[in-house]
Amino acid sequence: MGDKMKAVVKKDPAFGAELVEMEVPEVGPEQVLIRVKSTSICGTDYHIYIWNEWARKNINLPQIMGHEVAGEVVRVGERVKKVKVGDYVSSETHIPCGMCYQCLTGNQHICKSMKILGVHTDGVFADYALLEEVDVWPNDPLIPPAYASVQEPLGNAIDTIRAGDVSGKNILITGAGPVGLLAVGVARIFGATKIIVSEPNGYRREIAKEMGADLIVNPLKEDLEYIVKNLTSGKGVDFVAEMSGNQSALKQGLKLLTPGGRMALLGIPDQEVTLNLTGDVIFKGIKLIGITGREMFRTWYIAGRLIKEKRLDLDPVITHHFSLEDFARGMELMKSGDCGKIVLYP
Ligand code: NAD
Repeated sequence: MGDKMKAVVKKDPAFGAELVEMEVPEVGPEQVLIRVKSTSICGTDYHIYIWNEWARKNINLPQIMGHEVAGEVVRVGERVKKVKVGDYVSSETHIPCGMCYQCLTGNQHICKSMKILGVHTDGVFADYALLEEVDVWPNDPLIPPAYASVQEPLGNAIDTIRAGDVSGKNILITGAGPVGLLAVGVARIFGATKIIVSEPNGYRREIAKEMGADLIVNPLKEDLEYIVKNLTSGKGVDFVAEMSGNQSALKQGLKLLTPGGRMALLGIPDQEVTLNLTGDVIFKGIKLIGITGREMFRTWYIAGRLIKEKRLDLDPVITHHFSLEDFARGMELMKSGDCGKIVLYP
């Protein structure tokens, strides 16, 4: 293409990232080039930005950051059939190989040779971004770009809540970060009866209320166990969505689950967790369900419908809108935790 673009690049193995000018990338035969309209910051981007232990082990430098995106197709590779120039798209971030046992049995999202956009490949914090045809998701033109880029984490929330089959059930969501907050809204729509949220951060507890939580608890200051037992006549909740990655939240959630209940684990603990399998899992006959990414592409259909039909209001969760140049301000907010989703505009 020969044109220049600006991009947020992680260049050095240290804290931070740089806004640099670089060539717009060439399109491969099964790739799509988009002009980015909006992109949102995920916890993974923050981990790459601060260069934590996980980032040190997984990221090859230099790399353009970011993976949640919406934009307009400006070029397509010679074999691309799914979209054309001018289409308004987002992108799945799991890049499946299409050939392994998981891919061939309807489980592309847990592909054995999975690559992830913005983790193993250049990402989308840029004026232009390369997407794989397999991942490109055509958006309804009625969906605003900020909402369209948040569909990806919304898919995490949808997958987690679907795992609980929550209609008519009392549920506990541990952790009201952006994904937990989206899960509150999804659980409300999917018909959960009582939604209890535990979250230490006051800013996020306020948003949980707006998203439809019935009871919001600060687990560091209040007795979550007593409150849940009281609210469920001693039974415990039917479903727990663990969305914090915090070990004590995970263990607390497991204890508060009624025998025969289900617990979905989305939050990623930063180290191995020891559980009382005999008392808390086996003899309680519960189901533990791991959630990774989003079912491809069922959750995208659901997310698109919920947004287009205005069933789910994303405005309380999208707390900040910045220009791409202000990415460092967004990362500072991520550090404080006093934010929901932060959307960047090139
Ligand atoms: P986040 O880190 O912004 O949110 C986690 C929330 O948990 C924070 O608000 C924090 O205050 C809260 N928390 C901390 N300790 C707690 C406790 N003891 N009890 C209750 N809440 C507590 O993350 P996010 O972007 O909302 O994502 C949620 C989790 O899911 C993270 O662990 C993230 O790494 C993980 N994740 C997993 C997948 C996947 O595919 N499995 C995808 C996206 C995110």
